[in-house]
Amino acid sequence: MKESASKKQGMAAVKASALDPASLVREFTAQARAAGFRAEPLAEIDGCPLAAFTKRARGRRPRIYLSAGVHGDEPAPPHALLDLVRSGLLDDRATWFVVPLLNPTGFARGTRENADGIDLNRDYKDVRTHEVRAHIRWLRHQPNFDLALCLHEDWETKGFYLYELNPDGRPSLAETILDAARTHGPIEDAEVIDGRPSHAPGLIRPVDDPLMRENWPEAIYLRAHHTTLSYTLETPSGAPLAQRVATLASAVDTALSELARNFSRTS
Ligand SMILES: [Zn+2]
Repeated sequence: MKESASKKQGMAAVKASALDPASLVREFTAQARAAGFRAEPLAEIDGCPLAAFTKRARGRRPRIYLSAGVHGDEPAPPHALLDLVRSGLLDDRATWFVVPLLNPTGFARGTRENADGIDLNRDYKDVRTHEVRAHIRWLRHQPNFDLALCLHEDWETKGFYLYELNPDGRPSLAETILDAARTHGPIEDAEVIDGRPSHAPGLIRPVDDPLMRENWPEAIYLRAHHTTLSYTLETPSGAPLAQRVATLASAVDTALSELARNFSRTS
């Protein structure tokens, strides 16, 4: 999740692929509408819409929240959500709440931070940015989520890993997600990942008490206000973009299937 020396090389490759936030959001909007989603504009950031997309399933289905692009130098997550909606996998297994690109100005520049140099993923407590303010304003009108998945990338690791926030000890989806990711590439096996000890290969269970965290990332805000089960998924930025997109799409789809199975057993 942090900056690193290998980043410059990687960014050159990413920039070559012309990352235009407005066209990505336009494409996502078209695909989402075709799949039955409702577009909910949250704000306009530097000429690019910041939007959420919702679709309510009939009957009792899990409520799933997905977000991507809070860090502008992590292009695979928004593309993974685009792939999922385009391929019809955000289907009636769930009621969906999707925010595909949280940091349009960072995405356009290929920077982690927004155009004002602020890391949005540290801005969910004492909010300073338009993006996070608009996001939270929208979130306040949403119900609780049965699962939240925040999609990210990491320049410093060689393999996929995830953070789990599961304060109530609900059935964990971590192994299922890691198994899905493993079919696309390696799992990070370092004992310390992103400065935190790993619980098992590829699995970090960070301090999840919001009161003990100074700068809130999105996941801690969600844990405080919206969900008792969330995962932050991280693909290694050095892997090919197509592989990272496929890994994230597969991880999301697998997590949903497993959650839906648990959900139908308990409800
Ligand atoms: Zn990130």
